[in-house]
Amino acid sequence: MRPLANVNPDSLADAVERLDSGGGRAAAVGGGRDLLGMIKDDLVSPDVLVNLRTLGASEGLDTIVAGPTELRVGGLVTLARLGAHPEVASRYRVLAEAAGSAATPQIRNVGTLAGNLCQRPWCWYYRQKFPCYKHGGNRCFSRTGENQFNAIFGGGPSYIVHPSDTAPALVALEARFRLIGPGGERVVPAGEFFTLPRVGVERENVLEPNEILAGVTMPAAAGLRSTYAKVLDREAWTHAVVSVALALRMEGDHIRRADVVLGGVAPIPWRVAAVEELLAGQPVTAALAAEAGRLAVDGARPLSKNRYKIPLVENLVRRTLLSLAGSGQEPAP
Ligand SMILES: Cc1cc2nc3c(=O)[nH]c(=O)nc-3n(C[C@H](O)[C@H](O)[C@H](O)COP(=O)(O)OP(=O)(O)OC[C@H]3O[C@@H](n4cnc5c(N)ncnc54)[C@H](O)[C@@H]3O)c2cc1C
Repeated sequence: MRPLANVNPDSLADAVERLDSGGGRAAAVGGGRDLLGMIKDDLVSPDVLVNLRTLGASEGLDTIVAGPTELRVGGLVTLARLGAHPEVASRYRVLAEAAGSAATPQIRNVGTLAGNLCQRPWCWYYRQKFPCYKHGGNRCFSRTGENQFNAIFGGGPSYIVHPSDTAPALVALEARFRLIGPGGERVVPAGEFFTLPRVGVERENVLEPNEILAGVTMPAAAGLRSTYAKVLDREAWTHAVVSVALALRMEGDHIRRADVVLGGVAPIPWRVAAVEELLAGQPVTAALAAEAGRLAVDGARPLSKNRYKIPLVENLVRRTLLSLAGSGQEPAP
């Protein structure tokens, strides 16, 4: 392992300046749960680590504010705190459940929301240093190789799936991401933060190397019923094989608006607009849920070893919709 420096910035502006002056060789660190492992495995080799943890309280980066018009979550809030926060758990349940389902209790105690959203892909070819697109190469080994866990939507030229559990939840909640860089602040809708490989194959989002994800904001949850459901290939400690973030704005027993976002199926959180249109204005019935499941997989393009994801998604969407409708979960006031 090469020597590397750690800096403890004294303000957000200082942190941005440290990243900027690093010329692409400096990296922001939240909990370090992903980044430090990648450095040890020689997957990335920054010269400077910009430790954001020293900023937490002073810059409001580690606060959760649930106000009447919006919910604000700082980028340094740990997954454990987010998952256990009473207001988040009762009014934005999809986000609390997603945060609480990620990784292990130990990782959730340290891993931050921003780090979870910005974690790099867990495709085994990438993590084992195959010279794939993500490492600057010119091929995706999972296209024809061991592609059990890869994309069935939105793939090409890389077929990674986005690994974050909180990402589909935030897209479903119409969150906005606050990015701070040398030129100041910009706000990006969650649905535009994540980018497909065909837009830029070596990256997964619009964040520049000299920018910090300071936090996320989402509108108040009036009438919201929501949930996150995740299928694993073992009982714990792992990313979603497939998942669904479901957010229903209710009017009586009718759905006024539905946000349906899949995880584990595409290089970005995958919004299924056709299902959302189908559900709007309807009461949930078994027939409607079955139709929603079928539509959710419309247009899927499975690889040689991941066709099994199609019935998995179809049934997950159908079951989650029915269980949310019948859950007795009170819509948020
Ligand atoms: C065994 C295991 C199982 C896992 N299972 C899951 C799972 O089921 N679901 C899931 O979602 N995740 C899973 N993960 C990933 C884990 O949740 C993330 O590694 C963790 O959330 C990262 O948070 P962190 O704060 O430690 O990030 P770090 O390691 O500090 O950073 C990760 C990346 O984000 C960048 N970064 C961090 N903070 C910022 C910021 N504020 N602004 C800009 N860039 C930033 C870093 O530069 C780095 O590139 C798993 C990880 C492991 C090791």
